[in-house]
Amino acid sequence: MIETKLELIRNELPSEVKLVAVSKFHPLEAILTAYQAGQTVFGESRPQEFEAKAVQLPKDIEWHFIGHLQTNKLKMVLPYASLVQSVDSRHLLTAIDEWGKKNDRKVRVLLELHVGLEETKQGFVEEEILDILFSAESYRNVEFCGLMGMATNTDDEEQISSDFQRISDFMEYLKDLFPELTSFKELSIGMSDDWRIALRYNPTMVRIGTAIFGVRDY
Ligand SMILES: *Cc1c(COP(=O)(O)O)cnc(C)c1O
Repeated sequence: MIETKLELIRNELPSEVKLVAVSKFHPLEAILTAYQAGQTVFGESRPQEFEAKAVQLPKDIEWHFIGHLQTNKLKMVLPYASLVQSVDSRHLLTAIDEWGKKNDRKVRVLLELHVGLEETKQGFVEEEILDILFSAESYRNVEFCGLMGMATNTDDEEQISSDFQRISDFMEYLKDLFPELTSFKELSIGMSDDWRIALRYNPTMVRIGTAIFGVRDY
């Protein structure tokens, strides 16, 4: 049951770690069940689905966008997103900044760091993130709030730990290097299969879907 699973996870999470319930591919009723059990932060990864859910569900839900975002879909996502966790290209960042300017909004984002062994995983390498943050002021309508990352999809706990260690170390390094970026403090790591490992590496958010809502029907 969704309520029971939520409660078990919440009991294990330190109070300073925000639980983002990843509801992609699950129906409105499942989200409402979690909402009625006190969950208010949800993550979605497809723009159309994100928008449809955001307009139909209670207005006090905090929506995070966590999937790949194409620049022609910004208008479906940005009006409702309190955080875009998955900024993975400069092109996207520039488009978000322009949207923010047009709509008089400062858009909160996380930069996605690529750490997993998979070639296909999206995200920046460390040097690109450094370059972006050195020119953070030129993105006037973007608020840089931290990093998001995914560990390699493997059963090898050492590999997963080393991926999380790398993101966590880089986060600490960036906070020291850019003390003027006062919002840059969120570290979003950990999913259903690896969030307990992630907890050793100082996350401020975990993104959990399957362990709350069950297996997705793609
Ligand atoms: C789907 C997804 C999750 C949740 O994955 P689960 O394994 O179902 O917990 C977390 N983060 C991102 C970026 C995702 O796309």
